[in-house]
Amino acid sequence: MTKTDPNHNAGPAPDVIDMPGADFFDADPLNVDPFNVDPAEIAKFEDAARYWWDRNGALKALHDINPLRLGYIDNRSGGLAGKRVVDVGCGGGLLSEAMARLGAEVTGIDMGRAPLAAAEAHRREAGLDIAYRRSTAEDFGASHPAAFDTATCLELLEHVPRPDSVAAACRKLVKPGGDVFFATLNRNPKAFLFAIVAAEYILGFVPRGTHAYRKFIKPSELTAWAEGAGLARADLTGMHYNPILRRYSLGGNHHVNYLMHFRRVRVGAVPV
Ligand code: SAH
Repeated sequence: MTKTDPNHNAGPAPDVIDMPGADFFDADPLNVDPFNVDPAEIAKFEDAARYWWDRNGALKALHDINPLRLGYIDNRSGGLAGKRVVDVGCGGGLLSEAMARLGAEVTGIDMGRAPLAAAEAHRREAGLDIAYRRSTAEDFGASHPAAFDTATCLELLEHVPRPDSVAAACRKLVKPGGDVFFATLNRNPKAFLFAIVAAEYILGFVPRGTHAYRKFIKPSELTAWAEGAGLARADLTGMHYNPILRRYSLGGNHHVNYLMHFRRVRVGAVPV
């Protein structure tokens, strides 16, 4: 972890999810001098860490689907072990850690201070070697072009004003032939019913206000943005979650949650 991150405070104002704990951080915890630590601030970081890493807490849905999405990314990228991976919008590091445990060399970027603090605290506790940076995808893409084998961008696109720009940045971050994974929410009446009405209001397994329906993204829209940026579509799969039975699966329809796999087109190559 470098203390002087050139990407620190770079980029436009983030569309950070309003999550409990996030607004307590008025100093970037990643830049705190370890010899000048305010215990009260540390306590806040620990609260945030508990929030992200509470297996049965507010983010239990993310925890439940994590092995599933990890398996998908690992399989479709031909094995994550030894790969250089950037996790864009890494949040508290749920996926970053899982990928690091499979042997990937992971960099996690996010614009939220609390999620990064939670991720960094948990990484240290777990003794994992992951680099967390506060940056937008666009800034990181500009400073790290083609630096990664794989980019993962899960549950972020529906939170940014310009998802097409994030898709293009992900393409920039990976080498030609590299893999890019997105997970987001489809936009149709069924997705509204399941992802907002049921998940946030009736069953309450996603914190209220997490998602705005108008920001949901159709696979056709994501495909168009990604292809426009030089990515070739490799796969689309539905992701299904039953919070009552806590059963989750991949495949089938992609009406609500879905995962997409793209590859950066090699110059001169015919996209497959
Ligand atoms: N990808 C993680 C976390 C998803 S929550 C996972 O699936 O487990 C969405 C995360 O995106 C939050 O941590 C939020 O801080 C971050 N975020 C929102 N807008 C962002 C932006 N413009 N750039 C980078 N991160 C952003």
